[in-house]
Amino acid sequence: MSNSRRLFFALSLPDALQQQVVRWRAEAFAPEAGRPVAAANLHLTLAFLGEVSAQKELALRKLAGRIAQPGFSMRLDDLGHWPRPGVVWLGTRRAPRGLLQLAELLRSQAARSGCHQSALPFHPHITLLRAATQPVAIPPATPGWAFSADAFSLYESVFENGRTRYQHLEQWPLAKQASP
Ligand code: ATP
Ligand code: MG
Repeated sequence: MSNSRRLFFALSLPDALQQQVVRWRAEAFAPEAGRPVAAANLHLTLAFLGEVSAQKELALRKLAGRIAQPGFSMRLDDLGHWPRPGVVWLGTRRAPRGLLQLAELLRSQAARSGCHQSALPFHPHITLLRAATQPVAIPPATPGWAFSADAFSLYESVFENGRTRYQHLEQWPLAKQASP
């Protein structure tokens, strides 16, 4: 399927937060813990679509454009290590309802469009280190950055010259958050 692309919906991190996370990561983990994900590649996946034809991509973009979910804020205050995939991740202890609803909507639209969805529960996370298959000393806490999402994006995952990069394809706004 030469006409298909490997796609996923995700939240991107603001540039300033990318830099803060990367600076903290350099102090918090030993160099042998794993391979750091490049700052520009830090993201939180909402729904993985896999290889998608141009026609299906168009349909999924249209559905995404009709989403009218509210934005949300969360605290990046959780850390963990999944040794099997070799991932060290940054997450949140309390996933906001808006995040869970957005991911659920995108994942069900993807499933209905024929994109296989993992049976594993959604665990929102930002991958910090890859190839972390050995035991890793996980710091007891993160700085607890606040992260606000006011849009979500579609990315293409491109593997070339031995590395993966994500090409930003389109972004859709989330509705204004209700004032507290
Ligand atoms: P690579 O696989 O080339 O080492 P990568 O995992 O970052 O790099 P992709 O496999 O294209 O690149 O994945 C893109 C995003 O989708 C990543 O956030 C990845 O964790 C997530 N992802 C990949 N496969 C799945 C899957 N089967 N279910 C859920 N999320 C997935
Ligand atoms: Mg992968």
